[in-house]
Amino acid sequence: MNVVVLSGGVGGARFVQGVVAAVERVAVVGNVGDDLEVLGLHVSPDLDSIMYALAGVNDEARGWGRADETWRVLDSVAALGGETWFRLGDLDLGVHLVRTQALNAGEPLSRVTARLCSELGVETRLLPATDDRLRTWIATAAGELTFQDWFVAHGHREEVDGLRFEGADAASPAPGVLDAIAGADLLLLAPSNPYVSIAPILAVREIRDALAARRVPCVAVSPLIGGRAVKGPADRMLARLAGGTAPRQVASCYRGLIDALVVDEADAGDLDGLGEVRPIVARTLMVDADARRRLAEAALGAVPA
Ligand code: GDP
Ligand code: CA
Repeated sequence: MNVVVLSGGVGGARFVQGVVAAVERVAVVGNVGDDLEVLGLHVSPDLDSIMYALAGVNDEARGWGRADETWRVLDSVAALGGETWFRLGDLDLGVHLVRTQALNAGEPLSRVTARLCSELGVETRLLPATDDRLRTWIATAAGELTFQDWFVAHGHREEVDGLRFEGADAASPAPGVLDAIAGADLLLLAPSNPYVSIAPILAVREIRDALAARRVPCVAVSPLIGGRAVKGPADRMLARLAGGTAPRQVASCYRGLIDALVVDEADAGDLDGLGEVRPIVARTLMVDADARRRLAEAALGAVPA
């Protein structure tokens, strides 16, 4: 079975680990709307979260970045009055150095990503949604902020009034993305933030169109448990932008694109308004490898054997 997963960063990466444990042929399409330039380097936080998780070098306790990380470079940058708001560890910086050099030499992001994954021993195909420049902007009462300015520098305090995906209109899917979708037996949307992790992927018109025209099931997994995000602002965003945090509001983010929604047992009390979308009730808290795999299997259950 061929499976394609659309994924954001850390939350999505946990789910992707479960999918990879459950099926052999998996391709992941990752969000690049969070990408940024820091200290002259191109950082792709969501792609790296997935890559580190699949390589087994991610820091489980901290929840982001690499295990056994050290911070000597950032300490030096701080001592020199440099930019330190975006925390980049020494091991992490190695990746950004290699990536940036390759991009500056004209290599597309998809090819650099494939190379980095291969060097780290990742066998799963990890594709950026696009090789083109695509950036998420957040409209707030404090003005329009870049995604990372809002999320990291402002600690996502401001309520979100709207989103803009700069460059999306001109962006083409990265090589391999449409073929992977066309060859999939099942499409999955990870339990990532629908607005800032999955929407920037779907903002690439041909990716959205490919999902809308699918001939195989597409299953999303809700990032909410009991109407609350496990981490981050997804619940506040759904309440404000979709009018609530029930399964129907999660499903409304993916109108016309999904056939089923995996919801947590804690949210199974209100399955009204899902329309054509079939609910799959499961325990969705991915506490360990076992839980991640079971959640993936619940989503995979949507494919007729
Ligand atoms: P980011 O790009 O690193 O912010 O991560 P994602 O957008 O991929 O994932 C963030 C989302 O994952 C948040 O909305 C969380 O609620 C959700 N999430 C994290 N862990 C879990 C979990 O164990 N179960 C479920 N259902 N959602 C989770
Ligand atoms: Ca992200």
